[in-house]
Amino acid sequence: MREQTRDMDRGGDRGDRGMDRMGDKDNVGFRTRGRRRGCSFCSDDAEPIDYKDPQGLRYFVTERGKIVPRRISGVCAKHQRSVQLAIKRARTIALLPFTTND
Ligand SMILES: [Zn+2]
Repeated sequence: MREQTRDMDRGGDRGDRGMDRMGDKDNVGFRTRGRRRGCSFCSDDAEPIDYKDPQGLRYFVTERGKIVPRRISGVCAKHQRSVQLAIKRARTIALLPFTTND
C-alpha cells in the first residue's frame, strides 16, 4: 500500500524537469552567436593575404590543419579563394600542416 502512493508521487515530479526550456531558445542563440558578416580583408586597412605569413593564415586553419569554411570565418568569396590558395601554397612549402597526427 505504501509503495503505491510513493509511485504516484514520483509520477507527479516528472513534469518538473527544466529540459524544455533549454531546447529551442538555445539553438536560436547558437545560430546568431557567430561572427557578424564582414570580410576582414575587404576593409581598407586590411593586411594582404600572404602565403609566406603562416601567422596570418593560422586564423583560417583549424587545429587539425583544415581550412576554415567561409560561413565560419566570415570571409567573402573572393578573399576566401585567395586565402585558400595562400594556405595551399604555405602547405607545400611546409609553413602550414596538411594534417596533424594525434
Ligand atoms: Zn573580402
